[in-house]
Amino acid sequence: MAGEAKMRVVSMIREMQRLADALRSQGQRIGLVPTMGALHEGHLSLIRRACELSDVVVVSVFVNPTQFVAGEDFETYPRDLERDLRGIAAAGGEVVFTPPAEEMYPRGFSTYVEVERLTEGLCGTFRPGHFRGVTTVVTKLLCAVKPHVAVFGQKDAQQAAVIRRMTRDLNMDVEISVAPTVREPDGLAMSSRNMYLSPEEREDAGILFQSLESARRMIEGGERCADRIVASMKMLVSSRPRVQVEYVEAVDAQQLETMKILRGKVLIALAVRIGRARLIDNLMIEV
Ligand code: AMP
Repeated sequence: MAGEAKMRVVSMIREMQRLADALRSQGQRIGLVPTMGALHEGHLSLIRRACELSDVVVVSVFVNPTQFVAGEDFETYPRDLERDLRGIAAAGGEVVFTPPAEEMYPRGFSTYVEVERLTEGLCGTFRPGHFRGVTTVVTKLLCAVKPHVAVFGQKDAQQAAVIRRMTRDLNMDVEISVAPTVREPDGLAMSSRNMYLSPEEREDAGILFQSLESARRMIEGGERCADRIVASMKMLVSSRPRVQVEYVEAVDAQQLETMKILRGKVLIALAVRIGRARLIDNLMIEV
């Protein structure tokens, strides 16, 4: 399968499973890229990586209601399937799995997948129930698409760690690949939510990346005290009047537990609110 003309759009789980079975019986390796649509260059880079890792790439486009917390932007989340289909085809995706919400969550749905501990800190503190929605929908997508490999973005570092842990703990027979964050020219991590920003807010949003770069320079200069790095990042980010800090933390990259003295593989992560957008970013660094 190759090329835009042959792209197949599947909306029913049964049909997706039969297609996956057929591909597998032909010896084809299936790659999955889960998305909520409103695709940007970050998503397309995941599709390209999936193309390198598999024979047929399935991109799921599903705005998953169970991962939005009450009061969040589920209703207003940007949706533009026609544009997404063009992007997916151009990046090399051959199957688009886009189930309606009733197909994924029929009446009486009552089974959830939950990863403990890893989901409690960072974004988990501010978005209770979010990761339960993520792990549940990813499990359902894996059951529908039956991929050999699934590709996620480092931009959502906690999500990637949680998915890795889930597939390991539940012996899910799938490889998890995590691709680097794609950024705008000023360093802002690409996100479907960046379109919520006014021009002034968009300019202020550049401070997220700048604060991560300043943390990198401090560490490269020999700083090992997490509190000093976090305090300096908070000061920098808060210097922009439109930015409200939710958290800035330095944690170990595997367990996501807070560190005092930086050592080994460290994740420095932050979340802020700017206007109606909630933005996250992170830096993974070997100390
Ligand atoms: P979303 O549609 O926001 O749920 O994201 C779908 C996938 O794209 C997730 O694995 C994200 O981590 C990934 N992603 C989102 N933004 C970026 C980015 N700027 N660079 C790389 N991957 C990204």
